[in-house]
Order: sequence, then structure tokens, then C-alpha cells
Amino acid sequence: MTGSESAAPSPLPLGEMHPTRWGDPAAATTLPEPTRGLLELAFRLEDRAAVAEGVLPASTVPAAAAADLEAAVGADHVLRDDLSRRLRTRGKSTPDLIRARAGDLSDAPDVVVRPVDAAQVEAVLDVARRHHLAVVTFGGGTAVTGGLVAQREGYAGVVSLDLVRMKRLLAVDPVSMTATLEPGLRGPEAEALLAEHGLTLGHFPQSFEYATIGGFAATRSSGQSSAGYGRFDALVVGLDVVTPVGQLHLGTAPASAAGPDLRQLFLGSEGCFGVITAVTVRVRHLPSAAAYEGWGWASFAAGTTAVRALAQSGLLPTVVRLSDETETALNLARPDQIGAASTPGCLMVVGIEGDPEAVRTRRAAVTEVLTRLGGTSLGEEPGRAWEHGRYRAPYLRDALLDVGVLVETLETATFWSNVERLHAAVRAALEEHLPGPTMVLCHVSHVYETGASLYFTVATQEGATPLETWRAAKAAATDAMVEAGGTITHHHAVGTDHRPWLEREIGPVGVTVLRAVKQALDPDGLLNPGVLVP
Ligand SMILES: Cc1cc2nc3c(=O)[nH]c(=O)nc-3n(C[C@H](O)[C@H](O)[C@H](O)COP(=O)(O)OP(=O)(O)OC[C@H]3O[C@@H](n4cnc5c(N)ncnc54)[C@H](O)[C@@H]3O)c2cc1C
Repeated sequence: MTGSESAAPSPLPLGEMHPTRWGDPAAATTLPEPTRGLLELAFRLEDRAAVAEGVLPASTVPAAAAADLEAAVGADHVLRDDLSRRLRTRGKSTPDLIRARAGDLSDAPDVVVRPVDAAQVEAVLDVARRHHLAVVTFGGGTAVTGGLVAQREGYAGVVSLDLVRMKRLLAVDPVSMTATLEPGLRGPEAEALLAEHGLTLGHFPQSFEYATIGGFAATRSSGQSSAGYGRFDALVVGLDVVTPVGQLHLGTAPASAAGPDLRQLFLGSEGCFGVITAVTVRVRHLPSAAAYEGWGWASFAAGTTAVRALAQSGLLPTVVRLSDETETALNLARPDQIGAASTPGCLMVVGIEGDPEAVRTRRAAVTEVLTRLGGTSLGEEPGRAWEHGRYRAPYLRDALLDVGVLVETLETATFWSNVERLHAAVRAALEEHLPGPTMVLCHVSHVYETGASLYFTVATQEGATPLETWRAAKAAATDAMVEAGGTITHHHAVGTDHRPWLEREIGPVGVTVLRAVKQALDPDGLLNPGVLVP
């Protein structure tokens, strides 16, 4: 079987992601020939495209609980069929995909419930409380750190609370430049609704096509244009949340001194403190012009100095991404052309969006800084190519798994003075703990005045025990992040995967605070048990 033939169970409901691969089943791909040739130099390619169907564990939800769920949301929206449960099993990290390909459905929810509004969410939580059901809020299902994997021991069953029916644009305030969106809207759906008002959210993570507004808030997502528009948590001005003990409506003014900012408690709360049922965000006018450009740098250090200079002089473009030498050599900024001739040194992609005059002025200022610091303009083509191919990389990951090459990403952030140390430490940990042939690539993915995020892509031989191999390497890399003064995650969130390291980042008092909040809002521990809170 080739990558493009790898089958999804048929028929798949429209818009659903492939259960064992990323994204649109029709867009599945095989490896481009140049990429295959390059990989053969490093890896032993083998046919691993076959997928086991697997058997779902029997649904354990008691009949009385199922009847109450039907009363809460309507019988049509309580789903216990095989496909619905499969499609709501875990997220889309590489270990998630490896398990799905092996037919491991042990984390499948017992039932999928689809509320239409906050009142129905509240009713579902009430049923969960009465029958002691675990509730996993499901947005786009693109989680990569185990945030959709609930611990099931001790519960009468696991409910996947799917927000797919909550997709309205609730309000637009063109004077204040805010919009209120329901959580189940995927990135393109939200953008399309805002575009009708000439507005954009400007949040474009690589998972944009499937991830949702609620998921962005619940994980503190960061997008490819976050240098210009701000990361998602910085866009949020208001949140409505349903918790097991009642509702909150947060964000009554652009800023407030009314005690600690409770919105921050729910941003990044990964479904553990409540269900986010509406998000009010800052919006911008749709840009009417854009300029994308590639820049070449002699070294990663030189490029890093340049992005820092942009950030600290208030000249950040909308998009800025700097690949290290290895990533540049592999041309990973252009997933459709990996292995094609590439820039020596390091490639930086710079994108500037806005009205034509603003783009022209900002571009001139950015060009002046980058030229002065030793950069070489490579023209618009590398920038445009990156923009064109930027949502393709996850499809390539499936094609690589099909030939026995495990590809996974991990990310961290630190202050500028520590970027070089963190980069070296994480790379060394990965290289040391992955036994077979391995490539470790990195780029600066997000920049701030005070520091930057480093995003690593690792390719290694899948071998006989890929899950164990990756778990050990990821643990070593996360240890290295902590020891080298970085955060355990800049935008992928904690989930179940990073939870063992959270105390090392926030300390025992921080853990006490999180546990106290959890106890106050979710006293029966129903929401995403085992996720986030140590
Ligand atoms: C190929 C790929 C590329 C990615 N690229 C990026 C990237 O560029 N930037 C980035 O930040 N992340 C990225 N991610 C990670 C992921 O897309 C983000 O974490 C995203 O924000 C998750 O949104 P979702 O709607 O898919 O949430 P889900 O995966 O459905 O859920 C994630 C977590 O949030 C909780 N949750 C979801 N909705 C709600 C809600 N309404 N209320 C309360 N809790 C909720 C869930 O219970 C779960 O714990 C990527 C993932 C993949 C697979």
C-alpha cells in the first residue's frame, strides 16, 4: 500500500480528519522523489503503510446516564457508534498516530456528546456529576501533548464533549475591534465569518485548518503570524466558561485592576477547569497587501541576532521564521521541495502584511536592519514558497511514517541571552538518546522583545519500539529544557505528556495553586482527569 492509498474507514463524515493520519483524507500524499532519495542516504526505508483496524473497547456508559445525556442534548447528538468514538480518540501527535495505526483504541471515549450552547454544556456537566462520568472537551482534535487522553479508572465512563455544533459568530464590535466567537469554529470557519465584516483574527498555526477557537484558548496557541498579530492568549479579551460549579463571564473592559486576571486561569487550562463556550478576541482589518521575502544568513547565531534586533527595535514583521543550518539544508521551510537545492547557511522567512503603505514602510525599515546586520535578500520566491506550502508538512509526516521514519516536533522558549545554550542542550539530548540514524532540525518560530521560541523537528528510524524510543528521547529533551532554563512548552501546552515536568517549572507552590483551583471548580474531578494538573 502506498501513502496515498492508505484508506480511511468509509464513509467518513464531511470535514472529519482521517482517523489514523493528519487532515483531509483526499490530500494524503506519498514522498516526493527527491525527498525519498535524500532520506535513503540516512535511513533504511521500509513499507510501514499498513494500518490495523483495531477493536474498540465496549462502551461502559450506564443506560441511565446515556438516557440523561440524551435528555440534555437530544438523542441525535449522543453518539456511540464505532466511527464517532474512533474519530474522537486522542489527538494528532506522532505517538497518537503510531497508536492509531497499530489499532490501539484503548483511549476511545465511551460516548460522544454534541451540545449546541452553554446551557446544554451545563446540562451535560450536571449529568456527568450525577453519574460520575469523566468529560473530555473536544475541539479540533489536533492536540499533540495528550490533552485528549483522559484517565478512565474510577469513572463510570468517558464522555467526549464535542463542540462541533457551537460554530456561531456571536457578535462583532467594529468600533472596539472585537468579535465574540463560539469555541467549535475551526480556523478557516472563523476567518470566513470575520472576513464578511472585513476583519481577521490573524491566527494561523500549522494546525489552522482543523484546530478551533476554543482549542486555541485552552492551549495558549501560537500561530505563524503571531509576531505581527500576537499569540492567541494575547488576542483574547473575554471568555465565557461553564464549570461544574457554575458559569463565568470574564473580561468586562480592555484592562482592569479588579484583582488577578481570571481570564489567565482559563487560557491554557486544557479543559481541566471548565468548558470555554465563547471567546471574545481582538480583531484587525483584513490586510490588503503582503510582502514575503527570504533572507540568507551565514549562521544561526547571525540570524538570531537579526531577529532579536527586529523585535527590540519595534520592527517585527507579521511572520518571521529562522531555520538553523540543518533545517535550511533540508529545505524544510518548503515541504514540497525537501532535498531541492537550498540556501547555504540559514534561511529566514519574513512576511509583512497590512495596507500597502504600511507594508512598504515596514519593509523598508526591516530591509535596512537586516542588510546592516549582514543578511542577504533572497528575493520573494523563498518567502512565497513557504507561505504556499505551510500547511503541507503534517501530510509529509504521514508519508514518512509510511516508510518507517518517525518525525515529531517539540518546542520551548527562553530569554535571548539563553537561546544558544538551550538550542545546543536540546539538540544534544535528542541526538544522544535516539539510537538509530537521526536528524535534529530547529527554527526560531516566535520572537518577543525579551526572547524566542525554538521549534525542533526530529526525524529518526522508527525501529521495533518507536513509542518507547520516542518517549525516552522526549523525556531527555524535556529534562534538558528544564536544566538549560527553558520552558517545557511554548505553545503545545502540558496535556498528559508534559505533566510530569510541570512542577519543575512552576514549583510546589504553583502546583498547590493549580490543585486548589481544580478542587474549587471541579470538586469531583470530572474534567479531563490526568491532564495538566500534577
Ligand atoms: C500538525 C500540527 C500542527 C500544529 N501546529 C501548531 C502551531 O502552529 N501552533 C500551536 O500553538 N499549536 C499547534 N499544534 C497543536 C494544536 O493544534 C493546538 O494545541 C490547538 O490549539 C488545539 O486546538 P484544538 O481545537 O484542536 O483542540 P483539541 O485538540 O480538541 O483540544 C486540546 C485541549 O484543549 C481542550 N479544549 C479544547 N476545546 C476546549 C474548550 N472549548 N474549552 C475547554 N477546553 C478545551 C481539550 O480538552 C484538550 O485538552 C499543532 C498540532 C498538529 C497536529
